[in-house]
Amino acid sequence: MVDYDRFLDCVHCGLCLSQCPTYVELGTEMDSPRGRIYLMRALADGRVEAGASLVSHLDLCLGCRACETACPSGVRYGSLIEATRAELEIRYSRPPADRWFRRFVIERILPYPPRMAAALAPARLGKKLGIFRLAEAVGLGHLFKGLAELLPEEPVRIGPLPERTLARGEKKLTVALLSGCVMSVMFQETNRATIRVLVANGCEALVPKGQGCCGALSLHNGFPEDARRFAKKNIEVFEAAGVDRIVTNAAGCGAAMKEYDHLLAGEPGWAERASRFAAKVRDVSEVLAEVGIEGPLKEIRAKVTYHDACHLAHGQKVRQQPRAILKAIPGLEFVELKESDWCCGSAGTYNLTEPQMAERILKRKLDNILATGASIVVTGNPGCLVQIRNGLRKIGADIEVLHPVELLDRAYGNGGERRS
Ligand code: SF4
Ligand code: SF4
Repeated sequence: MVDYDRFLDCVHCGLCLSQCPTYVELGTEMDSPRGRIYLMRALADGRVEAGASLVSHLDLCLGCRACETACPSGVRYGSLIEATRAELEIRYSRPPADRWFRRFVIERILPYPPRMAAALAPARLGKKLGIFRLAEAVGLGHLFKGLAELLPEEPVRIGPLPERTLARGEKKLTVALLSGCVMSVMFQETNRATIRVLVANGCEALVPKGQGCCGALSLHNGFPEDARRFAKKNIEVFEAAGVDRIVTNAAGCGAAMKEYDHLLAGEPGWAERASRFAAKVRDVSEVLAEVGIEGPLKEIRAKVTYHDACHLAHGQKVRQQPRAILKAIPGLEFVELKESDWCCGSAGTYNLTEPQMAERILKRKLDNILATGASIVVTGNPGCLVQIRNGLRKIGADIEVLHPVELLDRAYGNGGERRS
């Protein structure tokens, strides 16, 4: 249910408009935060129907929350769009192909790492054989084209992470890592690097068994009941671990878990537990800022720039800590990226469901990255890593795309394998 009073926080000042990627691309009021708030309010009022035109303007929203950062009235746009999308899942009947993608891929496959890993094998084969072109005939062309572009080149096998790794030297914190869905399938090495850098900096690192998806994908796509189910499971598992911090290396997961208190507000027996859980959640860069980065670190001679993932910068207000990691590494020349907190177009599954707009937004990001002259671009979210890596590869740019902990891990003498 949309909390109607929340719409009234918007005073229609328009200060958010220039910060909204879709408004800047299209110049139409209904594709701006202010216009969308107007539409959502009209829908809640019953003044407009849940029809295709309204849904298209709301679907085109990236959910990047740049409008929240810009808003002087404290409008919580993210929760408004999430609640409205849940309403639309009930009130609007999507075309069959869209419905299939949402109900099957988003609800039943992506939040479950073993299913996702299993689905990648036939998907890679389909890509090789060109079967995806058949999908166009049944109206699924855009989804499969997007999926094909994002698929990893190599087969994926999920390897286990160590359940407990002792801190090196004096222990400062005990932390539990959310291994994540996309992270544990597509970025297993980043998860391992995360554990190594936490341990090197005085953290005992646990990876509790039984944990699951953070619920972000479900929440952003209009399935709040699924998100609540995932949240409750994680609360049980991480409570039992009894740690000081719950750490994630995925911006989207961190933003979702820091808001479990909102997600489960008013649920008897869960609201307080959700608040305690949310208060412990940290991005890995926040934990490293808290414990301090210990040397010795090897010199890395390279020019590096940083892309602020939306759900880290706008969702969690974490901006300086990832930059501090880069600045701690000797030899790195750090250069700021123009519009660093402008969305890259990934936005969860947006690059699959809205590929044309995602492409336009990505182009702007790539142009800004190229202008820095950096040989490495760093970002703290799996969606951004895939989107930017893919975009750079397509234009033939020789620029590495890494998570901040991967670069730090390299400075500790680990990894070192060049990935582009
Ligand atoms: S979340 Fe992003 S795309 Fe959506 S209205 Fe706000 S700024 Fe625009
Ligand atoms: S969302 Fe905020 S910044 Fe945008 S029009 Fe409303 S009050 Fe102004």
